[in-house]
Amino acid sequence: MAITKVWLDETENECTMCGACEAVCDAVFEVPEKMAVKAGAGFVENEAEIKDAADGCPVGVIAYALDGGDKRAN
Ligand code: SF4
Repeated sequence: MAITKVWLDETENECTMCGACEAVCDAVFEVPEKMAVKAGAGFVENEAEIKDAADGCPVGVIAYALDGGDKRAN
């Protein structure tokens, strides 16, 4: 299953702008204020790093969907 979408999900918590996700995978994440997914970022080639960033986010606000689904997968 491939990651097809990555987004900031602040349903339960807010991004603290800590920068950890960008440190793990700066090809996909940037933190100019709150986390943003870079335009044109490649999800397939950065899949492992995206999952690591989602797992490592201290407040659990990085969500991703697999194979076109629209559900939070982390
Ligand atoms: S790791 Fe989580 S809290 Fe930290 S900047 Fe990234 S999305 Fe925000």
